[in-house]
Amino acid sequence: MSEQILVIGANGQIGTELVLALRNKFGNASVIAADINPANETLAGSGPFELLNVLDKDRLHELFTAYQPTQVYLLAAILSAVGEQKPRLAWDLNMNSLLQVMDMAVAFKVQKVFWPSSIAVFGPHSPRQHTPQYCVMDPNTVYGISKLAGERWCEYYHTKYGLDVRSIRYPGLISWKAAPGGGTTDYAIHIFHEALKQGTYQSFLSAQTALPMMYMDDAIRATLQLMEAPAEQISIRSSYNLAGISFTPEQLAAAIQQHLPEFTLTCRPDSRQAIADSWPQSIDDSQAQQDWHWQPEYDLPGMTSAMLENLKNTVTL
Ligand code: NAD
Repeated sequence: MSEQILVIGANGQIGTELVLALRNKFGNASVIAADINPANETLAGSGPFELLNVLDKDRLHELFTAYQPTQVYLLAAILSAVGEQKPRLAWDLNMNSLLQVMDMAVAFKVQKVFWPSSIAVFGPHSPRQHTPQYCVMDPNTVYGISKLAGERWCEYYHTKYGLDVRSIRYPGLISWKAAPGGGTTDYAIHIFHEALKQGTYQSFLSAQTALPMMYMDDAIRATLQLMEAPAEQISIRSSYNLAGISFTPEQLAAAIQQHLPEFTLTCRPDSRQAIADSWPQSIDDSQAQQDWHWQPEYDLPGMTSAMLENLKNTVTL
């Protein structure tokens, strides 16, 4: 049977690239992009697009009926920094979208569901270096709380209803095709734009704040790899730790200076510093390596070159 893939939250930083990758793999017509906003410039015209507020159960039911998806990717969410401004809204969207989509997936016998979690599930009492898959988890942002609860619901739906739901705890994702959606790691994208435009950047995190990050190409590859893996190889039904590169603003600035020697970094931490301080600095992803043979391809110099190369023609000076 051919795949029918529904991507909800398709216009976002991840959705934009994931839809393109899925269309590349399965054909344009087999990947239905859906978002609360009209298709962005990159997606417009590349395949089917549907307007959808994921919290609107009738509309969701209409789309499941029309397309009978075999796979669903749920990417709609409110991210960490914005979530702290709108905690109840973040909880409502992040939780109810997941429950609604999983209920619909069970009812329509969807074969596979993907829902991303985040390193935000960890908290101040989690080990900060090589944070293991299983440890104390005491997230103190509403985003992290919603992701941890979501992970438990994923495992619950798998155990109780046999739903083949799969998930990754993404680190901060660095990309150039679509703008970031209001997370704590967004500085690592803004810095490239400002390096090319102004030759200088003021970071909202301190120079020594190490966080786990990943180049988007690696994140998309990991997502497709996890979704392709045989079900019996998936030993974790909450969400997999995934590691790429860990670095500080200072180290990122030094990598940029290899290409742009005049570039300067200043740091003025704001409220996002407290969020970063509660998160891991690096991640142990040995379970993903073992279960579905995960290996990142981009290191810090590789990611930096790729970002500058891709952005130099798109950033308006
Ligand atoms: P984003 O904010 O860039 O995109 C989210 C998309 O969802 C937007 O296009 C938005 O219009 C859409 N949306 C919002 N409310 C909606 C609704 N009610 N109905 C339908 N669509 C709606 O987010 P992203 O960075 O692409 O993240 C996607 C997922 O990955 C989220 O679950 C996020 O928590 C997770 N994640 C992202 C990162 C990262 O670094 N980007 C890291 C860890 C986890």
